[in-house]
Amino acid sequence: MTEKISWLRRDARRARKEARASGTAPLAQRQRERLADLVAYARAQSPYYAKLYQGLPDRVDDPALLPVTDKTTLTRHFDDWVTDRDVTFSAVTAFVDDPDRIGRRFLGKYSIATTSGTSGHRGVFALDERYQNVAGALGLVAYASLGAGPIAGMLARGFRLALVGATGGHYVSFAGYTQATRESAWRRRILRAFSVHLPMPELVARLNAYRPAAVIGYASVIRLLAAEQEAGRLRIRPALVQPAGDAMTTADTERIAAAFRTAVRPIYSCTECTYLSNGCAHGWYHVNSDWAVLEPVDAEFRPTPPGQVSHTVLLTNLANRVQPFLRYNLGDSVLPRPDPCPCGNPLPAVRVHGRAGDILSFPSGRGESVALAPMVFSTLFDRIPGVELFQVEQTAPTTLRIRLLLADGTEPEQVWQRIRSEAEGLLADNGLRSVALERAEEPPRQEPGGGKYRAVVPYR
Ligand SMILES: [Zn+2]
Repeated sequence: MTEKISWLRRDARRARKEARASGTAPLAQRQRERLADLVAYARAQSPYYAKLYQGLPDRVDDPALLPVTDKTTLTRHFDDWVTDRDVTFSAVTAFVDDPDRIGRRFLGKYSIATTSGTSGHRGVFALDERYQNVAGALGLVAYASLGAGPIAGMLARGFRLALVGATGGHYVSFAGYTQATRESAWRRRILRAFSVHLPMPELVARLNAYRPAAVIGYASVIRLLAAEQEAGRLRIRPALVQPAGDAMTTADTERIAAAFRTAVRPIYSCTECTYLSNGCAHGWYHVNSDWAVLEPVDAEFRPTPPGQVSHTVLLTNLANRVQPFLRYNLGDSVLPRPDPCPCGNPLPAVRVHGRAGDILSFPSGRGESVALAPMVFSTLFDRIPGVELFQVEQTAPTTLRIRLLLADGTEPEQVWQRIRSEAEGLLADNGLRSVALERAEEPPRQEPGGGKYRAVVPYR
């Protein structure tokens, strides 16, 4: 059975209200029940989880009992991971390689989303109706909790929302936008997508013309837009700005708030769980713990005490049944807040330290510099079939070295020609024809000293 949005919204509001009044037990109880249900479902319907969970007790309502999973391993077992035998890797891959099917429903019922984030590995995900309904319900609860100021401001500005992201691909935001605007005339009036692949002057001109009431988009691009607003080229007055996708520092949030003189509420989320958390006015991300479990852990996957920065974080999405994410290693380093947040939100709060976007800056030849956000590259590589992992390193001010790990059976020359033509187009659009592309023999590598892997490495 799939719960309706109206019921889900009432339930989420009730859980938060009760938690504010008398502690977090109502949230923890929902989390335990939903986890036990999802684990039972996964064991019954997913051959991969049936095998992985063989030795576990009949009922599992404590995530710490479950083994840790990750995108690379799960993707390798895709056909056994999913709980619907009609959802196969080859069918889903054919679907995502077809741009005409963006925002269409796969098998008439599932949304399909691809991602690389900034980790470089492409993920392909099926999201079911329950996922969409929970996302819709928690979105309504989050908007209602913004308070009268931002909501009144948005209404006064015609409630026009600008989505600044990657367009033309099966990304969760753009696929959702395409689906929403096709299925509803009202949404067509209040939603518009703006591509991060547009050259900055054109993106600025289009946003000036649209005059959005709210801007939601990739954090790294919104940081660049804040600089455009400071310089006076961008002249918009949104009542709300929601950066997402990359980690934000408090300084970033304050700079964006000052540039646009508005409320900034960053979103820490991922395609695997778009409703993972919402940022508050005090700079913390509050995890929607009735529908998601976020466990900060050390390198051996032991819990990190509140107040200490974790090595990584494990996600369990309690809603999506078709492709269950259970104790799934996200790779982000977070700081769990040890005490109640002064904003009054009873949900657990974290700050995110990892996944900070690295912006590449190039000399334009006219004494200025042109900045490109890392998402511009990860979304370019996402569109090219056969790329398992990529790395773009700016080895000199006007040289980009591209390292690739290709899927078995792909034709390296063909993939390279496609990458070169798309990347040259992107650079030309941004007035960067002088930037040279180098094809590396070596595969993507970690930071010197065994540090973290970064998909985009700026010149230092
Ligand atoms: Zn807070």
